[in-house]
Amino acid sequence: MKKFFVLFALLTAFIFAACTGTVSNQAEKNDKKTEQDQVSASGSVEQENETEKEETVKSTKAKLLYMGHASLRITTAEGKVIYIDPFAGDGYGPEADLILVTHAHFDHNALDKVKNRRSDCRTITWKEALDGGKHQTFDLGYVKIEAVEAGYNKNHDVKECVGYILTFSDGVSVYVSGDTSKTEQMPALAEQKLDYAFYCCDGVYNMDLPEAAECAKLVGAKHDVPYHVVPPKDGKYFDRSRAEQFDSPNRLIINEGEEIELVSDSKEH
Ligand SMILES: [Zn+2]
Repeated sequence: MKKFFVLFALLTAFIFAACTGTVSNQAEKNDKKTEQDQVSASGSVEQENETEKEETVKSTKAKLLYMGHASLRITTAEGKVIYIDPFAGDGYGPEADLILVTHAHFDHNALDKVKNRRSDCRTITWKEALDGGKHQTFDLGYVKIEAVEAGYNKNHDVKECVGYILTFSDGVSVYVSGDTSKTEQMPALAEQKLDYAFYCCDGVYNMDLPEAAECAKLVGAKHDVPYHVVPPKDGKYFDRSRAEQFDSPNRLIINEGEEIELVSDSKEH
C-alpha cells in the first residue's frame, strides 16, 4: 500500500511537471511570437517611413514635361501646374494654375488646349507681360516670372513677343526664349546663372542652329535645351536629329513627350 502511494505521488509529480513544462513552453512560444510580431511590425513601420521619405524627396523637385514644339508643362514642388505656349502634344489633363503665352501666333497660343483650369487659374500672355511697353515680373509665391525680350526678326516684333524666366521656390530657374533671334538683353541674363534655357532654332521663322548656340553661349545657362526645332507642319513638332545639331557644351536634349526633374546644379561652370 505504501508503495502504491509512493508510485501515485511520483506519477502525479511527473504529470504536474510535464504539464507546467508544456504551459511554460507554450508561454515561451507565445512570447517569442509577440516579439517577432513586434519586430516585423516595427520593420514595416520603418519601411513605411522610408517610403514616405522617398515621396517627400520626390515632391520637392519640380518636373518639366516637353510636349513638343514650344509647349511645356511644369509641375512645381507644391503641385502647381504651369502650361507654357500650349499647342503641341499630349498631357493637358492636369488642372492649370498658370498659363504663360509668349506671343499671339497659333503655335504658341492654343489656349483652348487647356480645358481643365483651377478657379483661380492665372493666364499671362505677352500683353500682360509687356504692360505699358515694359517687361513685367510677377511673383505668385510658388514661382516668380520675369518677362524678357524676344523677337528681333522679321516674323517676330520685340513689342509683341516675350520670353520668360521662371524661378521656383527651391531656386531652380528656367528660361524659355519664345520665338526670337538674338536679343540685346541676352548678355545681361548671364548674371542670373540660369539652370535651364530653352532656345528656338527652326531656322525658318526664327534663328537657326548656329545663332541659337551663340545665344546659349551669351546666356550661359547650366543646361541648354533646343526646342521649336522645326517649323510646325504636318503634325511634326520635334526632330531629334536636328536637335542633335544644336552645338552647345551644355546641351540637354529632351525628347517629345519626355518629362525631366528640374534640379539646381550647384557647381559653377
Ligand atoms: Zn513659333
